[in-house]
Amino acid sequence: MNEEQFLRRIAGYSFAVMLLVICLSFALRYKEEYNVVEQERDATRQEELLYVEATPTMLPEVTMYPVEALVQDRHDTESEVWEVWQMISQESMVKLLEHVSDRCILIEKPQGKNAGWAVKENLPYYQITFTLHGAEENLLASSVLRMWENRLLFGLPEEEEILKNYSVLSYEEEAGITSEVSMTFDRCYYPQVEEQEEYYIIHLKKYHEIYDKIVVLDAGHGGKDPGAGAENYRVKESDIALKLLLYLKELLETNTDIKIFCTRTEDVYPTLQERADLALGMEADLFISWHCNASESSGRSGTQIIYNAEQGKEDAFNSKSFAQLCLDKLLFALETKSRGLSDRQDLHIVRRATMPVVLIETAYLSNSKDLELLKDDEKLKDAAYAVYEAVLTAYERLEENN
Ligand SMILES: [Zn+2]
Repeated sequence: MNEEQFLRRIAGYSFAVMLLVICLSFALRYKEEYNVVEQERDATRQEELLYVEATPTMLPEVTMYPVEALVQDRHDTESEVWEVWQMISQESMVKLLEHVSDRCILIEKPQGKNAGWAVKENLPYYQITFTLHGAEENLLASSVLRMWENRLLFGLPEEEEILKNYSVLSYEEEAGITSEVSMTFDRCYYPQVEEQEEYYIIHLKKYHEIYDKIVVLDAGHGGKDPGAGAENYRVKESDIALKLLLYLKELLETNTDIKIFCTRTEDVYPTLQERADLALGMEADLFISWHCNASESSGRSGTQIIYNAEQGKEDAFNSKSFAQLCLDKLLFALETKSRGLSDRQDLHIVRRATMPVVLIETAYLSNSKDLELLKDDEKLKDAAYAVYEAVLTAYERLEENN
């Protein structure tokens, strides 16, 4: 071997070592990013937690590629696209593209068998939880992809996306591994799950794509907050509001095709924010909140409707017109004194509503004549019927103006 051959060989070795070091450092970085986190035993769970999958914040920065680019460049190993492409085989991608809709979540099935899936919504929080039961393997955070505005996305969601954040939790049960994918969105979506060979596709439908008409009903107060009371709180505003809600709900569900969502149907206390978020997240057509009034002066009585003067100011039908409709019908049905309409921007659910909203102060618990009415279930049914009629008229008016 002469000097030149020797130097060439040394150069060759150094180059190989350099390549090896670069590859190793990449491999180590990748391992770190996807490393699982040991989690302390969660006292609320019976099962031993295996681990918590990496949360989106630990994943590499979001990479967005238009789907067309993915398809075009799938053989191009030089391209960055290859990194994404390694996660999705060519065959499954082609199959997937036939099924994806503009708004959907794609969850790659873990290896091996599983016993099935379930999907659950937590409406006021805009949350959807997808659960995979009895699986042989954990579901990984990196297996959760999403389709939005013709782009296939993974990793931490961007500000303008409809998915706000997500996490994956896996734990072992007798029947196998359970993995929960919890996702928070920008509003309520109706999840339609489609099972493919390698993926679960969760199509995200806006509620108005499923239901033509949507009304959100609220019963004021509840649970820890009884609201106003009479007879040493044996008569509570929260109970009367709930009765009124349930009567109205039944009337609307029996006689119309209007889909009803309620902030509560039992004696619990949703926060004001949750109540408003439900109506906003559903993009409800109308938002109705039942209350009763009270005053230090026992002589004060009557029915009042609170509305939002800022809502639909320019519209032919708005919060104020809906409030007037409700007041007219209620005064006729209950023969109470009119306390008129009141614009209250200081009330959370009224101020935040972007649809015609009414907060109904049915009558005064502090007035003996009004109290008799509020204690009479037949009168409460009359009140519910009056608002039922107002809702029907409201829809006529809304349709006329569209
Ligand atoms: Zn109240």
